[in-house]
Amino acid sequence: MENKLRMYNTLSRKVEQFVPKEEGKVAMYTCGPTVYHFAHIGNLRSYIMEDLLEKTLRYIGYDVKRVMNITDVGHLSSDADTGEDKMLKGAKREHKSVMEIAKFYTDAFFGDCGDLNIKTPDVVEPATNCISEFIHVIEGLMEKGYAYESGGNIYFDTSKLKEYYVLSNHSEEELLVGVREDVDEDVNKRNKTDFVLWFTKSKFDSQELKWESPWGTGYPGWHIECSCISMKHLGEYMDIHCGGVDNIFPHHTNEIAQSEAYLGHKWCNYWFHVHHLNDKSGKMSKSKGEFLTLSLLKSKGYDPKVYRLFCLQSHYRKPLEFSYEALDNIGAAYEKLVRRIGTLKKEGQVDQERFGYYRERFQEALCDDLNSSMAITVLYDMLKEDMSDATKHALAESFDQVLGLDLTVAYRMKEAEGEVDPETESYILAKIEERKAAKKEKNFALADQIRSELLEKGIVLEDTREGVKWKKA
Ligand SMILES: [Zn+2]
Repeated sequence: MENKLRMYNTLSRKVEQFVPKEEGKVAMYTCGPTVYHFAHIGNLRSYIMEDLLEKTLRYIGYDVKRVMNITDVGHLSSDADTGEDKMLKGAKREHKSVMEIAKFYTDAFFGDCGDLNIKTPDVVEPATNCISEFIHVIEGLMEKGYAYESGGNIYFDTSKLKEYYVLSNHSEEELLVGVREDVDEDVNKRNKTDFVLWFTKSKFDSQELKWESPWGTGYPGWHIECSCISMKHLGEYMDIHCGGVDNIFPHHTNEIAQSEAYLGHKWCNYWFHVHHLNDKSGKMSKSKGEFLTLSLLKSKGYDPKVYRLFCLQSHYRKPLEFSYEALDNIGAAYEKLVRRIGTLKKEGQVDQERFGYYRERFQEALCDDLNSSMAITVLYDMLKEDMSDATKHALAESFDQVLGLDLTVAYRMKEAEGEVDPETESYILAKIEERKAAKKEKNFALADQIRSELLEKGIVLEDTREGVKWKKA
């Protein structure tokens, strides 16, 4: 296997050639959602770009094993172990139990992923499944002198490390800002950067989920989850760890600290981070304006694939500015694109030479630090070339294994939903109005007659809460 992929590694702050530990195989880990709320489309951007990375690896021939955790315990509202427990907050808000909240939002998350053509990782593991693994690793850290007990909790001692800020150049000044914002600084910590591995004493007397441990009844900290779940399924080494840039500090920094202290060797070689989605005012926050979810976009009539294309048009290491105007433009481009591909005749001879040429160009774009907008340019270039429909169709189908935009099926799906010429459409709408009027006058015989007339023409009417809808039979 040729190592073609070049990607940016947050650890070295450079674009590097990707070389997996075991030839032909990739062990990949993704920090999963904290399932206390719907995912924001900014979070979904990370999952789309991580999906692109996984599919690129598979496309160029790697055998990928990808693992993701589901955070259903222990994540406080500040990533630095302070504030409220996120799961508890969700449960209180909706008057449900923590496990009900976890189930509901886990399903919602995978619903969004399905709409966005994001492949489900090979292993998905909720944190609450792995309590004994967490305890085992924390015990190991205690034995090696990397953890201590204070005020009833177990903390990781960052002063025992040669270097703590391996992923970022964190200056003392930035740290002070962090502390200033943080009103509830934990007095039990020996060092400002120490973090909780296991809570027994917390502010949350109402914490629902608790387990026995050698240090008393309690629950795990957030960071320990990812270290243990990855070790459980991928072993002591992994090739690529993914997440959003906001995970770099403290979450990923703490993951590296505890994993390498426990294992006694380097843990993960490549760190892949996706940048923020912003709005015009800067970083999109959940408290500002409307909370942008995929369901909200769908309710406004946007196809989730349009949001996926919007993300793919921009590089994962650049901030992406969201606006409905931008989404409308992408939506129009998407309509045109799938119509063009959907009307290609797929029967016929595929020109193998041209197929190989474009496949190579497409791979080259992706292998250049996942240049997805360039990969889409290759798609457009290919469609413009004078060659058989069958070759174009085969290429579009092949590219879609990575792009995940339903390129060859979206148009047919829309057609099946009932695209008709404008004249027929106005005829149908007029008939619907006529039927509405008939019903209002309680002339149900006429209403039924109109329905059957349309049915004879292959049009089915449906009475829905949003009014009468029609589709092709
Ligand atoms: Zn994580």
